[in-house]
Amino acid sequence: ASGYSLLRDPQYNKGLAFTLKERDTHYLRGLLPPAVVTQDLQVRKLMNSIRQYEVPLQKYIAMMELQERNERLFYKVLIDNVEELLPVVYTPTVGEACQKYGSIFKRPQGLYISLNEKGKILEVLKNWPERSIQVIVVTDGERILGLGDLGCQGMGIPVGKLSLYTALGGVRPSACLPITIDVGTNNEQLLKDEFYIGLRQRRATGQEYAELLHEFMTAVKQNYGEKVLVQFEDFANHNAFELLAKYGTTHLVLNDDIQGTAAVVLAGVVAALKLIGGSLADHKFLFLGAGEAGTGIAELIALEISKRTKTPVEETRKKIWLVDSKGLIVNSRKDSLQHFKKPWAHEHEPVKDLLGAVKAIKPTVLIGSSGVGRTFTKEVVEAMASYNEKPLILALSNPTSQSECTAEEAYTWTKGRAIFASGSPFDPVEYNGKVYVPGQSNNAYIFPGIGLGLVISGAIRVHDDMLLAASEALATQVTQENYDKGLIYPPFSNIRKISAHIAANVAAKAYELGVATRLPRPKNLVKCAESSMYTPTYRGYR
Ligand code: NAP
Ligand code: MN
Repeated sequence: ASGYSLLRDPQYNKGLAFTLKERDTHYLRGLLPPAVVTQDLQVRKLMNSIRQYEVPLQKYIAMMELQERNERLFYKVLIDNVEELLPVVYTPTVGEACQKYGSIFKRPQGLYISLNEKGKILEVLKNWPERSIQVIVVTDGERILGLGDLGCQGMGIPVGKLSLYTALGGVRPSACLPITIDVGTNNEQLLKDEFYIGLRQRRATGQEYAELLHEFMTAVKQNYGEKVLVQFEDFANHNAFELLAKYGTTHLVLNDDIQGTAAVVLAGVVAALKLIGGSLADHKFLFLGAGEAGTGIAELIALEISKRTKTPVEETRKKIWLVDSKGLIVNSRKDSLQHFKKPWAHEHEPVKDLLGAVKAIKPTVLIGSSGVGRTFTKEVVEAMASYNEKPLILALSNPTSQSECTAEEAYTWTKGRAIFASGSPFDPVEYNGKVYVPGQSNNAYIFPGIGLGLVISGAIRVHDDMLLAASEALATQVTQENYDKGLIYPPFSNIRKISAHIAANVAAKAYELGVATRLPRPKNLVKCAESSMYTPTYRGYR
């Protein structure tokens, strides 16, 4: 290959880091200025320029351009500065990027499969340049973060998630495939926008939708085999639960919004017990939002309590209450509830809003998963503080604009007593002369490690016990030093080590359950996970 094309191939390009010898052997002389620099210097230079942008979206665009120009440098920058750059390539900025994706779009970063490709999906998959794929993240764009239906512009989400699979979990970038399925959009604004990049029609539903997804799932297995992980991301809940149930028994599928979120929140709650006291079974949980995240978390907490106390899950569910847009989920509503809410319809008189529910249930743990911002009002948070010495408050909705309350509100309204974490990051808060550091309760802690664990064991199915194993691995990574700061999650700066432990626990479970195909089982799974992780340092070229 010519030197010129080498510089234009993001997988091989090293920019000024090409040595003089490499410049000779690869016809690069004269195509680069004389300076030869190290990758570390390139990282510093990039961080300098990224820090100069004040607008987060500009930082996002700079990172996407880097990914297209020099992949190894992109991952090195991201890994070395993960706490600073996670909010750029992921929530909250990725949300804004999706809203504007039509205008940001320059080159495809993933595959678009629309209704136009019906009957040809296998051929479409073959158009992707990489053959050996280990992880697919797919969205249909209907519930992007808490921002609603963004149609084809949802592509930013699979792209962002997969860059975290690589940066945080060490899955090779060439083994990752972002996919957007475009069945139309019900977003009127996009339908009217002359620059919209997706199909200009309302969403296909019912059989037409099911058939396209079935063709997709079949083609994926045919093309990549049964060990490819398909992560469903940001589907609306009416499709999400059904797809997970339908393909969970035939494919290796993970719904991150339901399962990944559940594992990360359970880990946070278990870790928080050190700060708020009691055993898991001693607590009472109230959720605002009874969708994918809410019911997914609720079910995993109930399952964990059930395992710990050897009590049937039907019993342990009674410690958990959920509020949806119509109020507290109670028995009298049972007939009109969607099936995923039915297990949570406990005996109680109707309560129409969150404040009423907090007063009626007196929970020790309050979890926001509604996608609606500002719903943990002063009254709600004060009520939590009046019943609990240390209320645990998790505002999970993304992006920041949808957070149920801010970190500052949680700390000031509880006079510094709340243990707080949120889905999108908040800066530390100073209150009464003390600094409070909020944690980030985000599935980015979990899915990269789960994915890596599935990959290294060659697992062919995901099982709830793997979610519990992942959750346990995360909770045990919280140190006394973290607790002393009021944190219930370890810092993201250690994420690759954390992911390796999660991966090892998940892989161990896969072997135990007999769904692992990579045999014999490696003796030391943590070592195996660590050594199979992609590292972004440059290779020397002969
Ligand atoms: P979803 O399946 O659409 O569920 C949303 C739920 O919230 C529904 O039960 C809905 O009620 C309820 N709701 C909506 N507006 C409400 C209101 N004003 N008052 C009370 N309840 C209301 O969405 P999801 O997948 O669970 O996601 C929800 C949010 O969680 C999103 O913002 C997402 O970004 C966030 N999330 C965060 C993480 C994380 O790692 N931190 C992970 C996943 C998701 P009805 O059922 O009555 O419509
Ligand atoms: Mn999601």
